[in-house]
Amino acid sequence: MLPQIEDMQNLYDYAGYTLHVCMICDGFDMWDQKAVLIAGTESQINAAFVLNWFTPYISVLTHGLCTVGDEMRQKLADYGYPLYESPIDRLLGEDHKLSGFLLKDGTQVEATTGLINMGSIYHNHYLKGIEGLEWDGENLVTNDMAQTSHSRIFALGDLKKGVNQVSIAVADGTLAATQIWRNIRRASPPRKWEENISPKNLENAVKILKLQPLLVKISEPGLSTPGRGRVALRAN
Ligand SMILES: Cc1cc2nc3c(=O)[nH]c(=O)nc-3n(C[C@H](O)[C@H](O)[C@H](O)COP(=O)(O)OP(=O)(O)OC[C@H]3O[C@@H](n4cnc5c(N)ncnc54)[C@H](O)[C@@H]3O)c2cc1C
Repeated sequence: MLPQIEDMQNLYDYAGYTLHVCMICDGFDMWDQKAVLIAGTESQINAAFVLNWFTPYISVLTHGLCTVGDEMRQKLADYGYPLYESPIDRLLGEDHKLSGFLLKDGTQVEATTGLINMGSIYHNHYLKGIEGLEWDGENLVTNDMAQTSHSRIFALGDLKKGVNQVSIAVADGTLAATQIWRNIRRASPPRKWEENISPKNLENAVKILKLQPLLVKISEPGLSTPGRGRVALRAN
Protein backbone atom coordinates (compact mmCIF):
# COMPACT_ATOMS: atom_id res chain seq x y z
CA MET A 1 0.00 0.00 0.00
CA LEU A 2 1.13 3.53 -0.76
CA PRO A 3 0.45 6.64 1.33
CA GLN A 4 -2.39 8.62 -0.21
CA ILE A 5 -1.45 12.23 -0.94
CA GLU A 6 -3.33 14.88 -2.89
CA ASP A 7 -1.09 14.64 -5.95
CA MET A 8 -0.52 10.91 -6.40
CA GLN A 9 1.44 11.50 -9.62
CA ASN A 10 4.04 13.25 -7.48
CA LEU A 11 4.39 10.00 -5.49
CA TYR A 12 4.47 7.81 -8.61
CA ASP A 13 7.37 9.94 -9.92
CA TYR A 14 9.54 8.42 -7.17
CA ALA A 15 7.90 5.10 -6.21
CA GLY A 16 9.89 2.28 -7.77
CA TYR A 17 12.81 4.61 -8.53
CA THR A 18 14.36 5.92 -5.34
CA LEU A 19 11.37 5.24 -3.09
CA HIS A 20 10.95 1.53 -2.46
CA VAL A 21 8.39 -0.92 -1.08
CA CYS A 22 10.55 -4.00 -0.58
CA MET A 23 13.50 -3.91 1.79
CA ILE A 24 14.80 -7.32 0.71
CA CYS A 25 14.65 -6.32 -2.98
CA ASP A 26 15.98 -2.79 -2.75
CA GLY A 27 17.60 -2.39 0.65
CA PHE A 28 21.08 -2.33 -0.82
CA ASP A 29 20.12 0.64 -3.03
CA MET A 30 19.59 2.59 0.19
CA TRP A 31 23.06 1.85 1.52
CA ASP A 32 24.22 4.63 3.86
CA GLN A 33 21.75 7.11 2.35
CA LYS A 34 19.40 9.39 4.22
CA ALA A 35 16.19 7.39 4.15
CA VAL A 36 12.62 7.76 5.30
CA LEU A 37 10.56 4.91 6.58
CA ILE A 38 6.86 5.53 5.94
CA ALA A 39 4.72 3.45 8.28
CA GLY A 40 0.97 3.31 8.70
CA THR A 41 0.87 1.58 12.08
CA GLU A 42 3.09 1.64 15.12
CA SER A 43 4.18 -1.96 14.61
CA GLN A 44 5.25 -1.15 11.02
CA ILE A 45 7.76 1.31 12.48
CA ASN A 46 9.74 -1.72 13.66
CA ALA A 47 11.05 -2.06 10.10
CA ALA A 48 13.39 0.83 10.99
CA PHE A 49 15.31 -1.52 13.25
CA VAL A 50 15.87 -3.89 10.33
CA LEU A 51 16.42 -1.21 7.68
CA ASN A 52 19.29 0.05 9.80
CA TRP A 53 21.38 -2.85 8.50
CA PHE A 54 21.45 -0.90 5.20
CA THR A 55 21.56 2.64 6.55
CA PRO A 56 21.41 4.18 10.03
CA TYR A 57 20.25 7.58 8.72
CA ILE A 58 16.55 6.91 9.09
CA SER A 59 13.66 9.32 9.61
CA VAL A 60 10.26 7.82 10.38
CA LEU A 61 7.11 9.32 8.81
CA THR A 62 3.67 8.20 9.96
CA HIS A 63 1.76 10.42 7.48
CA GLY A 64 -0.62 11.12 10.36
CA LEU A 65 -1.98 7.59 10.20
CA CYS A 66 -1.22 6.26 13.66
CA THR A 67 -0.42 7.27 17.18
CA VAL A 68 2.95 6.29 18.52
CA GLY A 69 3.31 5.11 22.11
CA ASP A 70 5.94 6.22 24.59
CA GLU A 71 7.92 2.98 24.34
CA MET A 72 8.34 3.27 20.57
CA ARG A 73 9.15 6.98 20.82
CA GLN A 74 11.85 6.17 23.33
CA LYS A 75 13.25 3.37 21.17
CA LEU A 76 13.42 5.66 18.13
CA ALA A 77 15.12 8.31 20.25
CA ASP A 78 17.60 5.73 21.55
CA TYR A 79 18.54 4.87 17.96
CA GLY A 80 18.63 8.54 16.89
CA TYR A 81 15.80 8.17 14.38
CA PRO A 82 13.58 11.31 14.16
CA LEU A 83 9.82 10.75 14.11
CA TYR A 84 7.54 12.99 11.99
CA GLU A 85 3.82 12.58 12.47
CA SER A 86 2.47 15.26 10.16
CA PRO A 87 0.89 14.07 6.88
CA ILE A 88 3.02 14.27 3.74
CA ASP A 89 2.25 17.21 1.47
CA ARG A 90 4.57 16.35 -1.40
CA LEU A 91 7.81 14.64 -2.35
CA LEU A 92 10.76 16.77 -3.43
CA GLY A 93 13.37 16.01 -6.09
CA GLU A 94 13.66 15.70 -9.84
CA ASP A 95 14.09 13.03 -12.53
CA HIS A 96 12.75 10.38 -10.14
CA LYS A 97 15.58 11.20 -7.72
CA LEU A 98 14.21 11.99 -4.31
CA SER A 99 15.71 14.79 -2.23
CA GLY A 100 13.18 15.02 0.57
CA PHE A 101 9.61 15.34 1.82
CA LEU A 102 7.57 18.42 2.53
CA LEU A 103 5.08 17.78 5.32
CA LYS A 104 1.72 19.51 5.80
CA ASP A 105 3.03 21.32 8.87
CA GLY A 106 5.74 22.89 6.69
CA THR A 107 8.59 20.68 7.88
CA GLN A 108 11.08 19.53 5.25
CA VAL A 109 12.69 16.13 5.78
CA GLU A 110 15.89 15.50 3.84
CA ALA A 111 16.07 12.05 2.23
CA THR A 112 17.46 10.62 -0.99
CA THR A 113 15.67 7.31 -0.61
CA GLY A 114 12.91 5.68 1.37
CA LEU A 115 10.95 2.58 2.22
CA ILE A 116 7.17 2.45 2.32
CA ASN A 117 6.11 -0.15 4.89
CA MET A 118 2.34 0.13 4.98
CA GLY A 119 1.32 -3.49 4.46
CA SER A 120 -0.31 -5.16 1.47
CA ILE A 121 -3.77 -5.66 0.06
CA TYR A 122 -4.41 -9.36 -0.51
CA HIS A 123 -6.70 -10.30 -3.38
CA ASN A 124 -7.50 -13.68 -1.85
CA HIS A 125 -11.16 -13.28 -0.92
CA TYR A 126 -12.25 -15.69 -3.68
CA LEU A 127 -10.46 -18.47 -1.77
CA LYS A 128 -11.86 -17.72 1.66
CA GLY A 129 -14.98 -19.88 1.24
CA ILE A 130 -13.07 -23.03 0.29
CA GLU A 131 -12.95 -25.59 3.06
CA GLY A 132 -9.75 -27.44 3.90
CA LEU A 133 -7.35 -24.61 3.15
CA GLU A 134 -4.81 -23.85 5.87
CA TRP A 135 -4.02 -20.14 6.25
CA ASP A 136 -1.24 -18.33 8.01
CA GLY A 137 -2.67 -14.82 8.25
CA GLU A 138 -3.50 -13.92 4.64
CA ASN A 139 -1.11 -16.48 3.12
CA LEU A 140 -1.83 -20.06 2.20
CA VAL A 141 0.30 -22.76 3.82
CA THR A 142 1.81 -25.18 1.30
CA ASN A 143 4.07 -28.21 1.32
CA ASP A 144 7.44 -28.49 -0.46
CA MET A 145 5.70 -28.81 -3.84
CA ALA A 146 3.49 -25.70 -3.46
CA GLN A 147 0.44 -27.84 -2.72
CA THR A 148 -2.00 -26.49 -0.13
CA SER A 149 -3.80 -28.65 2.40
CA HIS A 150 -6.49 -29.00 -0.29
CA SER A 151 -5.45 -31.81 -2.65
CA ARG A 152 -6.41 -29.88 -5.80
CA ILE A 153 -5.24 -26.39 -4.94
CA PHE A 154 -1.68 -25.16 -5.29
CA ALA A 155 -0.54 -21.71 -4.20
CA LEU A 156 2.37 -19.79 -5.64
CA GLY A 157 4.36 -16.68 -5.03
CA ASP A 158 2.98 -13.92 -2.87
CA LEU A 159 -0.21 -15.84 -2.17
CA LYS A 160 1.60 -18.58 -0.30
CA LYS A 161 3.46 -18.34 2.97
CA GLY A 162 7.09 -17.52 2.31
CA VAL A 163 9.37 -14.97 0.73
CA ASN A 164 7.88 -12.51 -1.77
CA GLN A 165 10.39 -12.57 -4.62
CA VAL A 166 10.04 -13.11 -8.35
CA SER A 167 12.46 -16.04 -8.37
CA ILE A 168 10.49 -17.78 -5.61
CA ALA A 169 7.21 -17.34 -7.49
CA VAL A 170 8.76 -18.76 -10.66
CA ALA A 171 10.23 -21.73 -8.77
CA ASP A 172 6.86 -22.35 -7.09
CA GLY A 173 5.30 -22.59 -10.53
CA THR A 174 7.84 -25.23 -11.54
CA LEU A 175 7.23 -27.24 -8.39
CA ALA A 176 3.46 -27.02 -8.65
CA ALA A 177 3.39 -27.97 -12.33
CA THR A 178 5.66 -30.95 -11.61
CA GLN A 179 3.48 -32.18 -8.76
CA ILE A 180 0.27 -31.68 -10.74
CA TRP A 181 1.77 -33.74 -13.57
CA ARG A 182 2.86 -36.44 -11.10
CA ASN A 183 -0.65 -36.62 -9.65
CA ILE A 184 -2.18 -36.96 -13.12
CA ARG A 185 0.43 -39.52 -14.20
CA ARG A 186 -0.08 -41.70 -11.13
CA ALA A 187 -3.82 -41.77 -11.74
CA SER A 188 -3.39 -42.72 -15.42
CA PRO A 189 -3.00 -46.28 -16.76
CA PRO A 190 0.45 -47.08 -18.21
CA ARG A 191 0.67 -46.59 -21.97
CA LYS A 192 2.16 -49.61 -23.75
CA TRP A 193 3.34 -49.95 -27.35
CA GLU A 194 0.62 -52.48 -28.08
CA GLU A 195 1.71 -53.23 -31.66
CA ASN A 196 5.03 -54.51 -30.34
CA ILE A 197 3.85 -56.53 -27.42
CA SER A 198 0.43 -58.01 -28.20
CA PRO A 199 1.29 -61.01 -30.44
CA LYS A 200 4.54 -61.77 -28.66
CA ASN A 201 2.85 -61.75 -25.30
CA LEU A 202 0.42 -64.35 -26.52
CA GLU A 203 3.23 -66.46 -27.98
CA ASN A 204 5.22 -66.26 -24.73
CA ALA A 205 2.21 -67.29 -22.68
CA VAL A 206 1.73 -70.40 -24.86
CA LYS A 207 5.41 -71.31 -24.57
CA ILE A 208 5.37 -71.00 -20.78
CA LEU A 209 2.32 -73.24 -20.59
CA LYS A 210 3.95 -75.88 -22.83
CA LEU A 211 7.22 -75.83 -20.90
CA GLN A 212 5.64 -76.03 -17.48
CA PRO A 213 5.63 -79.90 -17.18
CA LEU A 214 9.16 -80.14 -18.63
CA LEU A 215 10.53 -77.55 -16.21
CA VAL A 216 9.06 -79.47 -13.30
CA LYS A 217 10.66 -82.68 -14.59
CA ILE A 218 14.17 -81.27 -15.14
CA SER A 219 14.24 -79.70 -11.73
CA GLU A 220 14.27 -83.20 -10.23
CA PRO A 221 17.58 -84.26 -8.55
CA GLY A 222 20.24 -85.58 -10.94
CA LEU A 223 19.96 -82.95 -13.63
CA SER A 224 22.55 -80.14 -13.53
CA THR A 225 21.50 -76.50 -13.83
CA PRO A 226 23.16 -75.86 -17.27
CA GLY A 227 21.42 -78.97 -18.58
CA ARG A 228 18.10 -77.55 -17.62
CA GLY A 229 18.71 -74.56 -19.83
CA ARG A 230 19.60 -76.72 -22.81
CA VAL A 231 16.62 -79.02 -22.37
CA ALA A 232 14.37 -76.01 -22.22
CA LEU A 233 15.92 -74.61 -25.39
CA ARG A 234 15.56 -77.84 -27.31
CA ALA A 235 11.95 -78.17 -26.29
CA ASN A 236 11.52 -74.64 -27.60
C1 LIG B 1 7.01 -2.34 -6.21
C2 LIG B 1 7.50 -3.75 -6.07
C3 LIG B 1 8.84 -4.00 -6.29
C4 LIG B 1 9.31 -5.30 -6.21
N1 LIG B 1 10.62 -5.54 -6.47
C5 LIG B 1 11.07 -6.79 -6.51
C6 LIG B 1 12.40 -7.08 -6.89
O1 LIG B 1 13.21 -6.20 -7.15
N2 LIG B 1 12.80 -8.37 -6.92
C7 LIG B 1 11.94 -9.38 -6.61
O2 LIG B 1 12.35 -10.54 -6.69
N3 LIG B 1 10.67 -9.15 -6.23
C8 LIG B 1 10.21 -7.88 -6.18
N4 LIG B 1 8.93 -7.63 -5.79
C9 LIG B 1 8.07 -8.76 -5.39
C10 LIG B 1 7.59 -9.50 -6.63
O3 LIG B 1 7.04 -8.57 -7.55
C11 LIG B 1 6.52 -10.52 -6.21
O4 LIG B 1 7.05 -11.35 -5.20
C12 LIG B 1 6.12 -11.38 -7.39
O5 LIG B 1 5.67 -10.57 -8.45
C13 LIG B 1 5.03 -12.36 -6.97
O6 LIG B 1 4.55 -13.03 -8.10
P1 LIG B 1 3.09 -13.63 -8.09
O7 LIG B 1 2.94 -14.34 -9.38
O8 LIG B 1 2.83 -14.36 -6.82
O9 LIG B 1 2.12 -12.37 -8.02
P2 LIG B 1 1.94 -11.17 -9.04
O10 LIG B 1 3.18 -10.88 -9.79
O11 LIG B 1 1.33 -10.07 -8.22
O12 LIG B 1 0.91 -11.73 -10.09
C14 LIG B 1 -0.42 -11.98 -9.75
C15 LIG B 1 -1.26 -11.63 -10.96
O13 LIG B 1 -2.57 -12.12 -10.75
C16 LIG B 1 -3.48 -11.13 -11.15
N5 LIG B 1 -4.72 -11.38 -10.40
C17 LIG B 1 -4.96 -11.13 -9.11
N6 LIG B 1 -6.20 -11.53 -8.80
C18 LIG B 1 -6.74 -12.06 -9.89
C19 LIG B 1 -8.01 -12.66 -10.19
N7 LIG B 1 -8.96 -12.80 -9.28
N8 LIG B 1 -8.19 -13.09 -11.44
C20 LIG B 1 -7.23 -12.98 -12.39
N9 LIG B 1 -6.02 -12.42 -12.17
C21 LIG B 1 -5.78 -11.98 -10.93
C22 LIG B 1 -2.81 -9.82 -10.83
O14 LIG B 1 -3.33 -8.77 -11.60
C23 LIG B 1 -1.37 -10.13 -11.21
O15 LIG B 1 -1.09 -9.88 -12.56
C24 LIG B 1 8.43 -6.34 -5.85
C25 LIG B 1 7.08 -6.06 -5.59
C26 LIG B 1 6.62 -4.78 -5.71
C27 LIG B 1 5.14 -4.52 -5.47
